[in-house]
Amino acid sequence: MRPLLRPLTRSLRVVLLGALLFAACSKSVEGETQRWATNSAKVTELGAVYPGFKPAIDARKAAATPLYDAAAALEGDAKIAKLAEANDALMRGFVGDLAALDAKIKALRERRVEAAAQAGDDSTRLAAKVAAEDAGRAIDRAEAALKAGAADEAAAAAILKKLHADLDTAKSAIDKVIAADQAKKDDAAKAKDEVAADAAAKAAADAAEAAKLAPWKCGHCDSQNTHEHTSCQSCGAARPEAAPAK
Ligand SMILES: [Zn+2]
Repeated sequence: MRPLLRPLTRSLRVVLLGALLFAACSKSVEGETQRWATNSAKVTELGAVYPGFKPAIDARKAAATPLYDAAAALEGDAKIAKLAEANDALMRGFVGDLAALDAKIKALRERRVEAAAQAGDDSTRLAAKVAAEDAGRAIDRAEAALKAGAADEAAAAAILKKLHADLDTAKSAIDKVIAADQAKKDDAAKAKDEVAADAAAKAAADAAEAAKLAPWKCGHCDSQNTHEHTSCQSCGAARPEAAPAK
């Protein structure tokens, strides 16, 4: 590369790096506007899926929409900040909790099946069954509460917080059963490895002992000599050194 071009390339590199960092770390008007569209669709969907929460959701929309509208009159960073504020006002607290609940319930259902399938012995199977039944009841309660809904935002927040805590407790009970089962399996595998290692060591010692008593063949005249002789009984050649034990 010609020296003249170097400073140019370097400054170009700095500009590119700056653009990358900006895209990765900073909020943008486009990004926040896109988020608002996604969030608005999500919130509308939540209202349809959980009609009992619709009053609280509508109140949230009514509070966040003026913030979004106010952003239209702003420019640059102020606009970005106002859009971010609108997004936060729409999604924070109970709305985010409501949006996350379905995935949590689904994961808990899968975890119940996993615990039952993995159980390696009767006591684990029993523990898994008890934990799975508890989790099933927590899921039933959550679904009933989701159906019942909430009169307003404060009630929605309290209900959803309780549901998340309830489901988390049920999940950690199942996780404990699975972890205990895994620890038992690990211990069993370790014990099995130790038995196998002992057997291999004994076989090696037996083989070494047998080798000491084995007859040996002379390298010069091919005659067999019994183990106690250190030189060939036919030609007198010295016995070759035994290979070192491994
Ligand atoms: Zn010999």
